Amino acid sequence: MSILCYNMLEKWGGKMDVSSVKGIGPKSLLLLNKIGIHTLDDLVTHYPFRYDILKRSNLQEALPDEKVIMDGKVESVPILLRFKAGLNKLNFRLVTATGVVGVSIFNRAFMKANLTIGTNVIVIGKYDATKNIITASDIKFGLLNNQEKIEPVYHCTSGLTNKNLSTFINTALLMNGKDISDFIPEFYQEKYHFSNKKTALNIVHNPPSMEKLKDAQIRLKYEELFAFMFKINYLKESHKKEQAGIERTISEEVLESMIHYVPFELTGDQKTALKEIYNDLTGKPRMNRLLQGDVGSGKTIVAILAMYLNYKSGYQSALMAPTEILATQHYHNICELFRNFPEAPRVELLKGSQTKKEKQELYQKLASGEIDIIIGTHALIQEEVHYQNLGLVVTDEQHRFGVNQRALLNSKGFMPDILYMSATPIPRTYALTIYGDMDVSIIKEMPKGRMPIETYLKREEEIRDVLEMMNEELKQKHQIYVIAPLIEESENSDMTTVLALRDKMNLAFGSKYKIDIVHGKMAGAAKDLIMQEFKQNQIQILISTTVIEVGVDVPNASMMVIFDAHRFGLSTLHQLRGRVGRGNVKSKCVLISNSDAKRLEVMKETTDGFAISEEDFKLRGHGDLFGTKQSGDMSFKIANLRQDFKILIQAKKDSFDYLVDTSTDKDSLKKVLIESMNHTSD
Ligand code: ADP
Ligand code: MG
Repeated sequence: MSILCYNMLEKWGGKMDVSSVKGIGPKSLLLLNKIGIHTLDDLVTHYPFRYDILKRSNLQEALPDEKVIMDGKVESVPILLRFKAGLNKLNFRLVTATGVVGVSIFNRAFMKANLTIGTNVIVIGKYDATKNIITASDIKFGLLNNQEKIEPVYHCTSGLTNKNLSTFINTALLMNGKDISDFIPEFYQEKYHFSNKKTALNIVHNPPSMEKLKDAQIRLKYEELFAFMFKINYLKESHKKEQAGIERTISEEVLESMIHYVPFELTGDQKTALKEIYNDLTGKPRMNRLLQGDVGSGKTIVAILAMYLNYKSGYQSALMAPTEILATQHYHNICELFRNFPEAPRVELLKGSQTKKEKQELYQKLASGEIDIIIGTHALIQEEVHYQNLGLVVTDEQHRFGVNQRALLNSKGFMPDILYMSATPIPRTYALTIYGDMDVSIIKEMPKGRMPIETYLKREEEIRDVLEMMNEELKQKHQIYVIAPLIEESENSDMTTVLALRDKMNLAFGSKYKIDIVHGKMAGAAKDLIMQEFKQNQIQILISTTVIEVGVDVPNASMMVIFDAHRFGLSTLHQLRGRVGRGNVKSKCVLISNSDAKRLEVMKETTDGFAISEEDFKLRGHGDLFGTKQSGDMSFKIANLRQDFKILIQAKKDSFDYLVDTSTDKDSLKKVLIESMNHTSD
């Protein structure tokens, strides 16, 4: 890290470790880290994902199933009743502004000591008018004033409550307010009459009214989009400046002949994309291209052939995948493919699970040019990796990587050409913005011989039918994916889990078929092993979370069963479904859910990723476009691409003006924005 940058970071103290916030001890620190909070900035921008509006109800008008909110003073010592199976119940009377009401709450025995006579509480629950009792689902301390109270709700983790988070955030704002980074240049701050960052954060975490909340949110969204668009604009401009890339001389014959070594006929779109890449590789300007194509459209082969062309002209290539499972799969596929080629390049795989010695050896070979193609995760662009002559970098599933990684790629090697692949069909207007710095090739045509996937919606009570369908597939020697939203049971969720499904599937099929699981908490090597076994059909039923969502390719898998399908966004379901229907057997996808049938209906109607993503945008904003966990190119903390499109467009224009305005060249904020791209790993 340069001295300049070090000073900057010190000045922009938002990078300060959260442990410096008063009240955060080692135990809380671990929990905060677990939910991705490391720095002061992370903490204060851990925005509520929802606000609960607390407003006193009129009990007389409450319907039996309606949620009611009432406040008052505890009038009687709570009585604790204990039942079998650890169940308990607290009963007490509450004096409210409109009379006395009984309150019961289950499983809060621990609250008894705090509910002394005279304590002010807010009770949330359901009112039974005949008994004059509120059965509470939650009790908070305090009173409601006569207006409504807006309560932020945060994503928490076991051991770290909403209250803890709120306290930490407010302490941080109080003590370290001036250390929080702010990415809006003064000029725009004044132009739009924005409040300062600290004030806006204060409001978002403690909203006094809906109106003020909305204003503060707009300010923070603008800031987030401004910083994002600044980076995109910066990348675009720097590409323009450094036009000159590697100018290769590869004859068209190489291009033509290599296609014949591929065991299948390329589709027209694949050929076109390849030609566009060939033109980039042999042309003067540096390649900066996005290869977009729906799941299963066959992007990988295009990338492999691009790397082959690069190899034939004497340069090294690096292929980056978002997960080790995927990197390993690419490695095996590539080795397999090159077996048919006369002059095969030397291909190696770099993995996190390798020993230090093994890694050192690979680094050494990369530096001396003994490796032609290296495959791995983003470890490939870490600082300690040096290449002899890196000519081409390919990133698979680009949307999983962030814009900062794009910048990091730019600084590797001497102007390597870059090919980004993405299966996420982003509606065009959005794509133009977030990938505004790239050229685009699109693969629309699916490989020949693909049979459309049949999608079924089933309710949980129809599980027998589903098992019967599974049995049919297994009898035909096909394999099956089973997906659950969770790995293991958790106290506040009733979602289906991978572990529970393993038991169920073993009961149904265990005597005849091999069943195994794979999930994100397993070590990389263990995951790879299971995937390898599944590929080789040593496992017939693979149960997993969404870890297999990205890119895994097993053509003999002809069925996918997704439990609690309503827990997933449509784009995730589409990505998951794309794991089957890859061979030439007719494939099935079964979505099991007892709710949200209307939304899931879309999956039955179409297999067009663009249509599905449009629908997803309409229904939920961009939030779930990239899976349950937001990451990569569109991971915004507060902005939402669809809802905030107008702000995005404004931020795009403003950040561009700001970038090219030389009078602000010395502005340290500009440098911080640029530096931040080269030094963060997200
Ligand atoms: P994605 O675009 O989702 O990354 P892949 O590159 O993994 O898709 O391709 C999916 C499958 O289709 C792979 O098994 C691949 O070998 C196969 N495939 C790709 N192109 C063709 C083609 N032109 N004809 C037949 N099969 C193809
Ligand atoms: Mg792929």
